[in-house]
Amino acid sequence: MRRLCILGATGSIGASALDVVARHPDRYAVHALAGGHRVEPLADLCQRFRPQRAAIADPAALDGLAAALRERGLSTEASAGPAALAGLAADPGCDTVVAAIVGAAGLASSLAAAEAGKRLLLANKEAVVMAGELLFEALARGGGELLPVDSEHNAIFQCLPPGFDRDLDAAGVARLILTASGGPFRDWPAADLAAVTPEQACAHPNWAMGRKISVDSATLMNKGLEVIEAHWLFGAPGDRIEVLVHPQSLVHSLVEYRDGSLLAQLGSPDMRTVLAHGLAWPERIAAGVEPLDLVRAGRLEFQAPDRQRFPCLDLAYQALRAGGPAPCALNAANEVAVAAFLERRLPFTGIAAVVEQALAADRPGRIQDLDSILAYDAAVRRTASAAVGRLGAAA
Ligand code: NAD
Ligand code: MG
Repeated sequence: MRRLCILGATGSIGASALDVVARHPDRYAVHALAGGHRVEPLADLCQRFRPQRAAIADPAALDGLAAALRERGLSTEASAGPAALAGLAADPGCDTVVAAIVGAAGLASSLAAAEAGKRLLLANKEAVVMAGELLFEALARGGGELLPVDSEHNAIFQCLPPGFDRDLDAAGVARLILTASGGPFRDWPAADLAAVTPEQACAHPNWAMGRKISVDSATLMNKGLEVIEAHWLFGAPGDRIEVLVHPQSLVHSLVEYRDGSLLAQLGSPDMRTVLAHGLAWPERIAAGVEPLDLVRAGRLEFQAPDRQRFPCLDLAYQALRAGGPAPCALNAANEVAVAAFLERRLPFTGIAAVVEQALAADRPGRIQDLDSILAYDAAVRRTASAAVGRLGAAA
């Protein structure tokens, strides 16, 4: 029996994880659930899954959460604040942590789970981008394991040989190929992108996801973050990670071997497959996902990404090449810019402009501990907010 802690339980990945868990009560028990700011959805999940512990990121919501749990007649222990979330991730009562908080807010708890030697199902890609080195050091010390909960990285994981240990050459791998849907604006003329609305950006053609990752998919920053994620997860340099636009989102990514073989993982675009894989690995369990009907799908298309219309992709490669804290700057500026775009304070095309300015600024060399990374992240956010003010006013 695996005992789970699900961080970001009230989000899109959290819902997919719990959907799979509910199908296998004989295999999984929910030990702890955590959410961001909203009490009622978290309390409802507690009523359904009966965890021992629940935590909410917003410290001001503690009394509300405790009251909502009492109203439902539950004895679930409530806690609140970022430290409480990291505490849940390291709780000896769980062996598996689903890290599904969006953004830098998930870094501390993802690191805590790694340090504590858990099986870490990592959806929170921003944590790897900000602090890949720290995360892998913590994993090595903790002795746990990381299973990627990003469809592309999960596909690559499945296409790599068993026991792969972040050494492409030893495994005979030439390149990793990440597929991208291209987002809702794949075929839009560049001139139309400035007027894109948050509603249009969040209407992803193939996947139903949270708002932040939906905007990232529309700018291709999501693929950029995934290039950096692949670098850390698989020990691949940037020049051995390729991006291929594949509008159907049925081939989730590929591994090219030096003998010319190309291995791919296919499936319906449904994150429950990925979560079921991570939860059960190395076994396979039902995920509630319809098998992919290739005859009905009919065709698989591939094209090169348009790097001019979607400059965020190259900004991410640039950050990866620069190394050190550059990916942290890329991520922080992107989070600020995406939030501003969603609040209609910044045009869609301003997102890349804010990130570009953040990468052009001076930055320290290597940053080696969590507090320094969080301090640097905060400093980049302040500069990026000022850039949003300038670019938003000019628009
Ligand atoms: P979402 O917005 O649907 O859910 C985010 C979750 O994080 C919610 O539970 C929310 O309450 C919580 N949260 C927000 N702010 C928080 C804070 N400050 N502290 C603690 N918790 C906070 O997002 P999502 O689509 O589920 O994505 C979650 C993560 O998974 C992201 O990093 C995303 O890039 C990654 N991911 C998502 C998908 C997908 O299909 N949705 C696919 C691959 C990777
Ligand atoms: Mg992905």
